Order: sequence, then structure tokens, then C-alpha cells
Amino acid sequence: MESDPGGCGARRIAHIGLGSNLESPVEQVRRAFDELDALPQTRLRARSRLYHSRPMGPQDQPDYINAVAALETGLDPLPLLQALQGIEQGHHRVRRRRWGARTLDLDILLYAGLVIDTPELQVPHPGLHQRGFVLHPLRELLPGDFVIPGRGRLDALVAALPPQDLEPCR
Ligand code: ATP
Ligand code: MG
Ligand code: MG
Repeated sequence: MESDPGGCGARRIAHIGLGSNLESPVEQVRRAFDELDALPQTRLRARSRLYHSRPMGPQDQPDYINAVAALETGLDPLPLLQALQGIEQGHHRVRRRRWGARTLDLDILLYAGLVIDTPELQVPHPGLHQRGFVLHPLRELLPGDFVIPGRGRLDALVAALPPQDLEPCR
């Protein structure tokens, strides 16, 4: 019980990237925020605006809706990943090809300042530092001088992004 003094659950902040480009993406993402808030030992603490972005990888697929959520959670990183995959399955996600169209993608971007490098889970998320559709919504939730472990300051990463088609919805 060392990691759980008093049995109340040590709570840490995790940032989750959400993405969808199938079957009413805005609704998929909105529903996912609620489902994140309903995970065991977990509360949704903040959510970014929704962004409209061009697809990464295969271009013969619809545009995406992306957002970022900040969770306070007592789940350890791997159980959190499994819980996120459970939510993806609840949205009937089917994996056909890498970076192909999906109803819902939930990635762990950051977890309590930890660096994790295992086959199932890498944190910070390996693509985080070069994806505008992740960095722009993340910047809404974190200060510019926040340091992404191994990648540097968030404001510098945002400034280094190439110009791209990305805009907040509404
Ligand atoms: P990308 O990870 O480049 O955004 P993707 O999200 O489309 O691509 P998925 O098919 O959702 O990729 O996930 C493939 C595998 O990535 C998962 O089975 C999971 O084990 C692994 N993975 C590693 N690190 C992470 C992370 N930080 N968050 C989510 N999944 C991760
Ligand atoms: Mg992803
Ligand atoms: Mg994923």
C-alpha cells in the first residue's frame, strides 16, 4: 500500500488527447469527455476547446475533431491506458491501418511528469511534441513555461510547429 497512503488513492494529473473523424466526431468527443469523468478514481478537471484538423498520415479520410482533457486520477498509467482502450471499444473503434479513420482515439499525452518507455506505453506520447492538433489544445490547459519531459517548453514547441490547417470549432 506504499503508493496508496491511507487507502484514499494517490491522485495525479494526466493529460489525454482525444481524436475522432467518423460517425459524428463532435458527438464522439463530447461523449468521451463524460466517459473520462466517469472512470473509476478519476475526475475530469479541464477540457480544451474542440479543434478541426486535417488528417495525419493517409489523406483519403475525413478531417478530425481533436481536443485535450486534464484528468485527476488514482489509476496508475497502465490501468489508465486499459480504461481508455475500454472507452475506445465502447465507441466501436476498429483498427484497420496505421493512422486510419477512427470513431475515437484516446492517447495518454502526459502523466504526472513521468517518463515511461515500455512496449505498451510511452509517456510523454511519442508524437506529442510535433503535432499541432495536440499542442494547441494542450497549451490551453498548461502554461507556456510548462516543460514536456525530454522535449522542452510547451511555448517553444508550439512556436516551432509548421503552419497547418487547424482551427478551433465555433
Ligand atoms: P499514435 O499513437 O501515433 O497517435 P494511434 O493513436 O492511432 O497512433 P493506436 O492504434 O491508438 O495508435 O494505439 C496503438 C498502441 O499504442 C496501443 O495499443 C498502445 O499500447 C500504444 N501506446 C503507446 N503509448 C501510448 C500512449 N501514450 N497513449 C496511448 N497508447 C499508447
Ligand atoms: Mg493517436
Ligand atoms: Mg491511440
